[in-house]
Amino acid sequence: MTSAQTGVEPGRCLFVSDVHLDTVAGAAEAQFLALLRTEAPRVEALYILGDLFESWVGDDTPAHPAVIEALAALSASGVGCFVLHGNRDFLLGSGFAERTGCHLLPDPVVREFGGERVLLTHGDALCTDDHAYQELRTTVRDPAWQRRFLALPLATRELLANEARAGSRAHTSRTRPTIMDVNPGAVEAAFRATGARRIIHGHTHRPAVHDTQIDGRPAQRMVLGAWYEQGSCLSYEAGRYHLRALPR
Ligand code: MN
Repeated sequence: MTSAQTGVEPGRCLFVSDVHLDTVAGAAEAQFLALLRTEAPRVEALYILGDLFESWVGDDTPAHPAVIEALAALSASGVGCFVLHGNRDFLLGSGFAERTGCHLLPDPVVREFGGERVLLTHGDALCTDDHAYQELRTTVRDPAWQRRFLALPLATRELLANEARAGSRAHTSRTRPTIMDVNPGAVEAAFRATGARRIIHGHTHRPAVHDTQIDGRPAQRMVLGAWYEQGSCLSYEAGRYHLRALPR
């Protein structure tokens, strides 16, 4: 079948991040499911740059059946679905990938769009001023820690995840906002290490397009917003990017 017959527009991509879906289905879930039904089937690839879920305690969780089903339908229809881990859903694993047809990508990862190398990352690793968070990140990304956690009964993991979320809220409320934004030096280092001139990330919940210079050459950092009050997405088509809010 040609792309005209399937309705897929070649090269068109959609990026979202920080949908933060809760186990109790709410407005964000309804809006995200609508995006998966309407706009997402018309693109070649959907990139979810982390924190799709507010928490993920293991692939054996029965949570979010509608989202799992919708992602599976989208993948089955031929749309490439790519997922990065966020700081909330860093335990998404091969079971999730099998159930949804999504491909888990490492963070950071460089992909090509229209022949341009673009660095995709959740963004938390760039927030190097938040030392307490970076220490926690090192702990929970350790494979041995993850194996021990995943060996606990599901109910225990859910309890611990709720405690971690309360701890995270407390940390966020007492930490200065600038500390929780990306560190300019970390951003520059990421540009230089990869040779990319465009970074797309989420996590900071500060949707914006930042023009910058790296070694005298123009570069751009595109930040996706969170889905707490409204949706946020970035679309790519024929060399152009468009960041937009999705009102509810
Ligand atoms: Mn995040």
